[in-house]
Amino acid sequence: MKCNCQNTQIILYHHKYLIKGKEIEFDHKRRVCKDCGSLVYDENLDEAASKEAIRIYNLNYGITKEEIKEIRKNYDLSLELFAKIIGCAKKTLISYEQGTSIPNDNYLIILKTLQKNPNLLKDIIESNPERFSIEEMEKIKNKLHRLYGNHFLTINFLEENEPSLYNGYTKFSFQKFKDVVSYLATLAIGKTKLMKELFYIDFLYYKNYGSSLTGMSYVKLPHGPVPDNYEILLEILNDNNFIEITSTLKGNYEENTIVSVNKDINLSKEEKKIINEIVNYFASYTGSQIADYSHQENAWKLPEFNKLISYEYAFDIELGKKNA
Ligand SMILES: [Zn+2]
Repeated sequence: MKCNCQNTQIILYHHKYLIKGKEIEFDHKRRVCKDCGSLVYDENLDEAASKEAIRIYNLNYGITKEEIKEIRKNYDLSLELFAKIIGCAKKTLISYEQGTSIPNDNYLIILKTLQKNPNLLKDIIESNPERFSIEEMEKIKNKLHRLYGNHFLTINFLEENEPSLYNGYTKFSFQKFKDVVSYLATLAIGKTKLMKELFYIDFLYYKNYGSSLTGMSYVKLPHGPVPDNYEILLEILNDNNFIEITSTLKGNYEENTIVSVNKDINLSKEEKKIINEIVNYFASYTGSQIADYSHQENAWKLPEFNKLISYEYAFDIELGKKNA
């Protein structure tokens, strides 16, 4: 006689899912027939189980729905605008935030990028202007301005980074960063040159003392290594009257010059020794010359573009051994 599975019970069932080639296993309640043991469809239980599979996948291989929500909330953006930034449909974004689907790889890359580097939002919207109306563009830029203006959050966020190979086993110190920048900009210095000297100072300091000076992380960009989040940090220093940034046009590109206003600089003898070594070595270099010079370093050659640079490359840096 065929069982009609009317007599059911809920048991703890071992689920196995295969998601994008990854095996996801977990125990979750499931409805079965008491008489024949067959699995019986239960809308609530089965939906909850597949959500659990997605949650585990996202946690281990992707990005969690909480993290996605947090990124969007950090920018204070609507679902609609944030979906346009990622390039997906609003409905898709909702499904990610509710944990009912898994971000596809393209969207995942953008989300992860924004999570790591909040200031890249500006680059993303500026390189995809066709997605936005003029009003939307303005709206996002206003939000960004507020975000950039929210200095406290940025500094706190950076100082929360745990010591690792990417900050020279040193927690980022805004205080130190401010003092080193102020010191380097005592006489006016071009922005490009300042960025590169910061890199050499932190890496050389690490090579000598086993820790970086400021705890800054550096990113490999096409024109050389640059401090992570440097735009925001320089803006903070500028807005708080530690430095003054002036822009001038040289030919058809913008040149930024930085002058220190801060007179209260606290640096130790060892710190000043490394800083002076770099300043003297590159004294006659222009910004683009020091950028070219940095392209010979393994610290710039070996990492991937837009990725953080490991301080282990510090040991390959030997000033004076190469021809610039
Ligand atoms: Zn049955």
